[in-house]
Amino acid sequence: MSFDISFVLLSRDYKYTNHAPHILINPGNNGTFSSSGNIPNSVFIFRWNALSSSPRLRAMTTTQLPSTAKMYTALSERDSTFDGVFFAAIRTTGIFCRPGCSAKKPRPENVEFYPSAKDALIAGYRPCLRCHPLEPKGAAPEWIERLLQQVEQNPSRRWKDQDLREARFDPARVRRWFLRNHGLTFQAYQRARRLGLAFGQIRLGEKWEGAAYTHGFESTSGFHEAFTRTFATAPNKVSNVAPVVITRLLTPLGPMIAGATAEGVCLLEFADRRMLETQLERVRKWFRSPTVPGTNAHIEHLKMELDKYFTGDLHDFTVPLRLLGTEFQVAAWNQLLEIPYGNTISYEAQARAMGRPGAQRAVGKANGDNRIAIVVPCHRVVKQNGDLCGYGGGLWRKKFLLDLEQGQRELGN
Ligand SMILES: [Zn+2]
Repeated sequence: MSFDISFVLLSRDYKYTNHAPHILINPGNNGTFSSSGNIPNSVFIFRWNALSSSPRLRAMTTTQLPSTAKMYTALSERDSTFDGVFFAAIRTTGIFCRPGCSAKKPRPENVEFYPSAKDALIAGYRPCLRCHPLEPKGAAPEWIERLLQQVEQNPSRRWKDQDLREARFDPARVRRWFLRNHGLTFQAYQRARRLGLAFGQIRLGEKWEGAAYTHGFESTSGFHEAFTRTFATAPNKVSNVAPVVITRLLTPLGPMIAGATAEGVCLLEFADRRMLETQLERVRKWFRSPTVPGTNAHIEHLKMELDKYFTGDLHDFTVPLRLLGTEFQVAAWNQLLEIPYGNTISYEAQARAMGRPGAQRAVGKANGDNRIAIVVPCHRVVKQNGDLCGYGGGLWRKKFLLDLEQGQRELGN
C-alpha cells in the first residue's frame, strides 16, 4: 500500500504570495501519475498566461531559492538532486534547463535562476529539448525515490536528521525538497503518513493506544491530539466512520487532489486552489466522514480517465460520482454534466435549462462550489458574450481545458 499524504497539512504549510504562479512541474508524487500516452506540452498555457492581462493568480511558494553560488555549482556539476529546486535560464541561448541537464554549461554571468519553469517561461525563455524542463515527471528524482523507498520499508519508523545523515541523505536538501514539492517538512510528511497508517489500523479494530505506539508516537495524548486535528475525529471514535480517501494526482495543469468514498469520486480540485481547504471541509461535512490519505478503485478509475482526457483520447468520463450539496447545487452540477465535450453554454442558458430562468447569479455561485473539477465540467460555462469569466482553478486553466476540448491545442512536442 502506498499513497501520498501531503494534503494533510496543506493549509497550514502552504504560503500564498503575490509572486507569479508557481506550477509544480516535478512534484515527486511517487509515481501517482501514470501516463499511458503523450503528456501535452504545457508551453501554450504558460505563454497564454504570460500574455494575459488578467490579474495574476495567487501562487504557492514555500521556500526561497538557494544562494546563486550554490545553484551555479549545482548546475556546473549537473547535480540532478537539485531537480525541482530551481531552473536555470541561459541568456545567450534563450533556453532554460533542469539543473542536471547534460548541455554545455554557461558562464555564470549568462545564467538566471528561476524557482519554477513557469517563471522562466514568463521571462521569455523556451524549454531545453535535451532535459525537457516542462515535462511533468511522474516520479520523484532518483535520490528522493531512494529515500521514499527506505521510508516505505518501515513507514512507522520515525526519522531524525541523524538517521538521514547515516543513510547518506543531506537533511537540508531533504527538507528543501519536501517543502518545495509537498509544502511541508519531511518530518511533517512522515508524521502524516504515520497518522494515516494508524487510522487504517484502528479501523481494522486495533486499540488506538496500540496504534499510537506501533506508529512511533511517544505519548498517547500527543497522538490523540494530532489525530483529532488531522481527521476531525477522535481516535476512539473511528470505527463507525467510513472515510473519504484522498490522493494527490499529477496532471499537465499541476497537481490535483482527488477524493472518493466507497460509492464514487467526490472531490477533484487543483492543489494550489485557495478554496481547497474549504472544499475538504465541505467534503467532511457533507459526507460526515474524515478524509484520510489513500486510494480506492474509483480513484484509480479517475486517474486512468484523466490521463486519457488530457491526451485528448477521452471525451466522456464514466467514473461514478457522488454529488452532495443543496438541492440547487446538485441540480446545477447535474446540468453541467449535460454539456457535451467541446461545447460551451452561458450561465443564462444553464439557468433556463434548470427551469430557473434568471437565476444565473445563483447558478454561477453553484458552479463555483463544484467540487469535482474537469469531470463536472464547470469550465464549459461562459458569459453570454463568450467571455470566459471566472474559474476557481484560474482562467488560464479554463482556457486550457476549452482549447484542449476544441482541438486547438497541440498535444505532445
Ligand atoms: Zn537542458
